[in-house]
Amino acid sequence: MRKVRRRCKNPDCREWFHPAFQNQTWCSPECGTVIALTKREKDRQKSIQEAERRRKDEAQQERRSIKVRKLALQPLSHFHKQAQAAFNEYIRTRDAEAPCISCGRFHEGKYDAGHYRTRGASPATRYDETNCHKQCVPCNQHLSGNIENYTPNLIKKIGQAAFDRLMGPHELKKWTREELQELAAHYRQKTKELNKRREAA
Ligand SMILES: [Zn+2]
Ligand SMILES: [Zn+2]
Repeated sequence: MRKVRRRCKNPDCREWFHPAFQNQTWCSPECGTVIALTKREKDRQKSIQEAERRRKDEAQQERRSIKVRKLALQPLSHFHKQAQAAFNEYIRTRDAEAPCISCGRFHEGKYDAGHYRTRGASPATRYDETNCHKQCVPCNQHLSGNIENYTPNLIKKIGQAAFDRLMGPHELKKWTREELQELAAHYRQKTKELNKRREAA
């Protein structure tokens, strides 16, 4: 064998030596022991870290599955509530620059997303964008939508054809939990994109 020289891998030694075999990284039995013990300690630490990581993964998995199970126990109304909140938020964002659809006021304070055809009387149009517009709280909550003023302003805004379509018959959709979750995600995304476009403008 060629006379090669190597440096001892014991960091406290680093002496040059001539290895007697291929994998020898130590200059002396003492250094061999140091290296072996260091490696054993490193392996031990690694296996502790791996066990810790596995434990965390399992805990996260468990939390996720609890969340899924909890969600599965929620009534459909819970998912409608989530979807409606996301839809209404989009309507308020879409109409951010507009006045109240009914009274035409710009006022300081809270605005609602006011349904023209109410959710109770017309559940099929609760997620219809032509049916919902930014409305001040007084009109929405205290004047039952201020409908006599809502009507002409709505026709002006969306046009007679869209108004007639809105007032026409609608098939009542049977929503599933998953569809409502998708609808909520869809409107959250739309709101986000709209805000981003406005910030960029
Ligand atoms: Zn050594
Ligand atoms: Zn108003």
